[in-house]
Amino acid sequence: MIDLHTHSRASDGTDTPRQVMEVAAAAGLTVVALTDHDTTSGWAEAGASVEGTGVALVRGTEISTRTAVPDGGISVHLLAYLHDPAHPDLVGELARTRQDRLTRARRMVDRLAEDFPVTWDDVVAQTHDGATVGRPHLADALVAAGVVADRDEAFATMLHAGAPYYVPHYAPDTADAVRAVLAAGGVPVMAHPRAGTRGRLVDEDTIAALADAGLAGVEVDHRDHDEADRVRLRELATELGLLVTGSSDYHGSGKLNRIGEHTTDPAVLAEVERRGRLEVLWP
Ligand code: AMP
Ligand code: FE
Ligand code: FE
Ligand code: ZN
Repeated sequence: MIDLHTHSRASDGTDTPRQVMEVAAAAGLTVVALTDHDTTSGWAEAGASVEGTGVALVRGTEISTRTAVPDGGISVHLLAYLHDPAHPDLVGELARTRQDRLTRARRMVDRLAEDFPVTWDDVVAQTHDGATVGRPHLADALVAAGVVADRDEAFATMLHAGAPYYVPHYAPDTADAVRAVLAAGGVPVMAHPRAGTRGRLVDEDTIAALADAGLAGVEVDHRDHDEADRVRLRELATELGLLVTGSSDYHGSGKLNRIGEHTTDPAVLAEVERRGRLEVLWP
């Protein structure tokens, strides 16, 4: 059982990297990818937990990107696997994104503070040191302040992209990010391409163009996709010669997603490992 998309508190998950590995073991997984947003800072602790848990680790990152369209930009999450974490093409872009996420979170708090009893210190209190800051941390601060019951309610009412409190953050162009992942020896896979409740989706021509740029695969089995989405994505993957993955997008207690609720074929993992610069860390 292979789950190629999880988050720890190195970004917006609620478990430590070690706990992610432990939860994976308890769920009967043999392989897990840790894919925190825009960072590799959880890799070392997760890697140190391979022996103790018996779970193999695929080192990954979920890169925030944006695809330009005539009337704006569409947010695209790009999973990168087994890349050199020190490659300059990636290091610079990820650092810039993390820095602007901080600026953006402060601006969102400024807006929220006009209507709700929440401060920047409240957000800092909800964010593990060095973590990539995201809207889930704002949600946690709003929960702690008693404004909403949980992250879901925060997103539904005040943090979604159409809300007046929303501020976008810097993100590299999607095709540029695909090329940077390849330059770093990684394997780029588009996360949840049809997760429509998160905002606008890129069209199939854009996915085809990304395949031309070197995109290796698409995440198909994911809770944000219905059956029709999955059928169509499988067809598209066949047409474009893309790998198909499945994963949970586990965020600890921050989301309902259960680790291992969707999984990836071992043959696909073997191909990811063959193409990636880093090894999978086997127990
Ligand atoms: P950001 O990266 O700051 O734009 O925030 C997006 C993140 O928020 C995603 O990676 C999800 O993990 C999380 N998210 C989105 N919608 C929800 C929700 N309804 N409940 C909990 N977390 C969510
Ligand atoms: Fe997330
Ligand atoms: Fe994502
Ligand atoms: Zn994710």
